Amino acid sequence: AAVQAEPELTDGFHLVIDALKLNGIETIYGVPGIPITDLGRMCQAEGIRVISFRHEQNAGNAAAIAGFLTKKPGICLTVSAPGFLNGLTALANATTNCFPMILISGSSEREIVDLQQGDYEEMDQLAIAKPLCKAAFRVLHAEDIGIGVARAIRAAVSGRPGGVYLDLPAKLFGQVLDAAKGEASLVKVIDAAPEQIPAPSAVKRALDLLKSAKKPLIILGKGAAYAQADDDIRELVERSGIPYIPMSMAKGLLPDNHPLSAGAARSTVLKDSDVVLLLGARLNWLLSHGKGKQWGEPGSKKFIQVDIEPREMDSNVEIAAPLVGDIGSVVKVLLAGIDSSWPGVPSDWTSTINAKKEANISKMAAKLGKNASPMDFHGALGALKQVIKERPDAILVNEGANTLDLARGVIDMYQPRKRLDVGTWGVMGIGMGFAIAAAVETGKPVLAVEGDSAFGFSGMEVETICRYNLPVCIVIFNNNGIYRGTDVDPTGRDPGTTVFVPGSRYDKMMEAFGGVGVNVTTPDELKRAVDAAMDSGKPTLINAEIDPEAGSESGNIGSLNPQSVVKKK
Ligand code: ADP
Ligand code: MG
Repeated sequence: AAVQAEPELTDGFHLVIDALKLNGIETIYGVPGIPITDLGRMCQAEGIRVISFRHEQNAGNAAAIAGFLTKKPGICLTVSAPGFLNGLTALANATTNCFPMILISGSSEREIVDLQQGDYEEMDQLAIAKPLCKAAFRVLHAEDIGIGVARAIRAAVSGRPGGVYLDLPAKLFGQVLDAAKGEASLVKVIDAAPEQIPAPSAVKRALDLLKSAKKPLIILGKGAAYAQADDDIRELVERSGIPYIPMSMAKGLLPDNHPLSAGAARSTVLKDSDVVLLLGARLNWLLSHGKGKQWGEPGSKKFIQVDIEPREMDSNVEIAAPLVGDIGSVVKVLLAGIDSSWPGVPSDWTSTINAKKEANISKMAAKLGKNASPMDFHGALGALKQVIKERPDAILVNEGANTLDLARGVIDMYQPRKRLDVGTWGVMGIGMGFAIAAAVETGKPVLAVEGDSAFGFSGMEVETICRYNLPVCIVIFNNNGIYRGTDVDPTGRDPGTTVFVPGSRYDKMMEAFGGVGVNVTTPDELKRAVDAAMDSGKPTLINAEIDPEAGSESGNIGSLNPQSVVKKK
């Protein structure tokens, strides 16, 4: 009898890996455990880079910022129930920030979960994820893995980018399929984020309004940074001559020292402008919802908004000229309209802005130059401002309260997508996840400027940084607490609610894992230590002792704290 050849087989594990690889996924961020431990191992064996974290929220934040930096969905891989929930915070944050990301979680047996019979880590993860992300899918059969991964990728990056949840029950991984049939089931996503070109009538409406402006302003948001239309955006600003301000993560799209930057005259331009072109920026709380005192006289402003999401229009105020489309395409058609008919920008507007800018810049410079000890925020930031000026290709990660607000204003950025921070929610805890992914995705040196409190949310990942030997230099602005290091318990029983152990030495944490730890007390020492770290590329943590008296409650947003009218002394 003839020997029957065994048919070649594949299984759920390999189909997931093949589907990701087919769609250009090169890196996965995650935490191993049941049921995805072997999936991680096999990914690594198949050439996907796997970065294993200590906590899923940090892995999720890494995936999210990888999505922002690359326009490909960042992948986070977690175990079921608790691991999934830890990753879900990052998925929700990615969705809020319009970063493309896919959270892939293993899950328990459907039959048991749905009958609530108490499985290992039982949880209806799909139902929980759904309201917190852009889309959520579950794959039950191995032959559907290709479609499931394709749907997740397209949902994450098309239109307004966001977070997608992909639920993979444990049983799926072991399902066996004929290899040829398996390969045929995979889907390569074609044109995952198609261009969206606005209608000519909408473009004309916007250009007519822009041409009528006496005091025009452009606001660049992180959607503009995400679009990677850097040259055309710069051309739009320069050819039109319209002053601009960058939102936090749009800093560096044009260099902060650009003559048309009105960043140092922010309050003046928000108040006095007459036509505002929003380019990938939302009129949310970060822009006072487009109304109120900060925006000058009611009715004094007309808005042109460029956004890929139609429903963003009129979210807070009337948008006189909505331009729905992807920023790359929209900026191209706007540029075509900035031709010989362009009236230019009235010079009294630009000279008003320039006078204000110069005054504010010299006021700030006086605060930055001092080499005092104990350091205040400005002293320390003056040193870091110089570092980024000398190393403009380094990536700056920034979180904290005062550490965030003051660094945003002081440290100039010179290149696009080099400033990564707390984003739309103003969330603490993105620091180490963002720093790790920034180093992995770009290969550039990373400077993470962290408040001591903010650092605590992801601090254990210094081990991850050392393990993968990443060129990350962390500077902790250590003022012994949240906002300040001076709170006391009025009853005298415990430490105040916002203070930490005085004199903590975070630098020792780095040494525990073989990285470099340095303690500094002056701006000069700080500058030298950061330079050494950046030159060596070694994982480094610098504990920068900041005066515990320095800093203000909640940084710039203290007004958001509710006040008690019956506060007892
Ligand atoms: P910022 O906080 O910097 O103001 P936001 O996150 O509030 O920025 O706004 C970013 C906006 O950019 C979102 O409304 C999002 O829909 C939009 N956006 C993201 N990517 C693109 C793109 N490629 N083209 C057009 N709009 C985009
Ligand atoms: Mg602090």
